Amino acid sequence: MKTRRSFIQTVAAPILALPLLDNEIREKLLADIPYDGPVLKVALMGLGGYATIVANAMQSCTKAKITGLISGTPSKLTAWQSKYGVDPKNCYTYQDFDAIKNNKDIDIVYVITPNGLHKDQVIRVAKAGKHVICEKPMAINAAEGKQMVDACAKAGVKLFVGYRLHFEATTLEVIRLRKAGEFGSIRFFQGLSGFKIGDPTQWRLDKKLAGGGSMMDIGIYSINGARYMVGEEPVWVTAQETKTDPVKFKEGVDETITFQMGFPSGAIASCLSTYAMNHLDRFFLDGEKGFAEMLPSTGYGPIKGKTNNGEITQPHVTHQAKQMDELAEIIFSAKQPVVPVDGGEGLKDLRIIDAIFEAVRTGKKVMI
Ligand code: NDP
Repeated sequence: MKTRRSFIQTVAAPILALPLLDNEIREKLLADIPYDGPVLKVALMGLGGYATIVANAMQSCTKAKITGLISGTPSKLTAWQSKYGVDPKNCYTYQDFDAIKNNKDIDIVYVITPNGLHKDQVIRVAKAGKHVICEKPMAINAAEGKQMVDACAKAGVKLFVGYRLHFEATTLEVIRLRKAGEFGSIRFFQGLSGFKIGDPTQWRLDKKLAGGGSMMDIGIYSINGARYMVGEEPVWVTAQETKTDPVKFKEGVDETITFQMGFPSGAIASCLSTYAMNHLDRFFLDGEKGFAEMLPSTGYGPIKGKTNNGEITQPHVTHQAKQMDELAEIIFSAKQPVVPVDGGEGLKDLRIIDAIFEAVRTGKKVMI
C-alpha cells in the first residue's frame, strides 16, 4: 500500500519542493494524502462543557487522538471510555493521575478544569514527566503562572495554553496583512468581549475557582487579541470596574471592566470585559493606512473578518481540531506557530490581568 511517507518521498516531494508553490496549494495536495506520521496521545482532564467540544473536534484530527481520561466523575469516565474508545487502563481520577508517569499511552495531558485548579494540576502532570496543555486563563495570577512555567521547564516538558485562535485562518490573515504593512502603522485597537452569565452558583462566579469574574474568562480574549492584533506588548494599563449586581458578582468577582492599554509605539487599546451584556465579540484594528474588523472575533466560528479592502475569505476549520493537529506538529517537528502558544504567552496575559486588577483597585495607571 502507498503510505503518505512513501508517496511524499517518491511522488509529491518534487512537486512540493517547487519554490513558487503556493502554501494553500501545498496544503491541499497534502490533505489528499493519508497521514501516517506520529500521533500525539492526549489525555483529557476535566470532562465538562469545553472538554466535550474538544473531544468532538478531535474526532477529525489526524495527528492527535484521545488515549486517556482524567475525571472526578466515575459515570463520565465510563461513558467517555466507550464513546471515544479509550482503554479503561488509561483512565484516572484526580487522586491517582500521578500514575500517568508510567503510562506510555499518554504523551500529553489537556487540563480543562476550573481556572483555580490549573496550577496544581499542571505541576503534577509536569512532575509525572508528561507535556501539558492548559486551558485559558493559564492560572489565576502571574505568580501562579510563573510557578507552572518553572515546574515544566524543570521537568523538561512542554507547557502550552489552549489559545485556539492562534491557529485560526482569518486571525492569521489579519496578522499577515498587518505585518505586511497593509494597515500602515497601528494606532488603535478595540476589543469587546462579553456575554450575560446565567447560573449564579457556577464555579465561574466563585472567586476561589475562577480567580475573578469576566476578566479571567472572557476579557482575556481582548487582552490576548490586542497583543496579537497590534503586534506589541502593552507597557501600561488603566481600568474601571462597574457592578450592577453585587449579590451575583461578589467581592473579587468582576462583572464589567473597561480597560485601556498603551503600547511602545504609541498605539492604544480600549477594551470591554463583561458578564452582563450579550453580543460582544468584536475586534477592530486601525492603522494609518487601513483597518481590520473581526466580528465575531473569538467564538467557535466561523470567525468573520474584513478590511478596508473588503471581506477576508478564509476557510473555516474547527478550531480545536486544527489546534490539536498543530500542537502535534510543534511537538514532533518543532514547527513554530505564528503566535506563540507556550506558557510564556499565558504568563504575559496573566501579568496584564494582574495590572488591570491593580488599576481597578487603585484608580491609577499601572506600568507593566
Ligand atoms: P465546566 O464547568 O463545563 O467543566 C469543568 C470540569 O472540570 C467539570 O465538568 C469537572 O469535570 C471538572 N472539575 C474538577 N473539579 C471541579 C470543581 N471543583 N468544580 C467544577 N468542575 C470541576 O467548565 P468549562 O469546560 O467551560 O471550562 C473549563 C476550562 O476551560 C476553564 O479554564 C475555561 O476558562 C476553559 N474554557 C476555554 C474555552 C476556549 O475556547 N478555549 C471555552 C470554554 C472554557 P469532571 O466531572 O470530569 O471532573
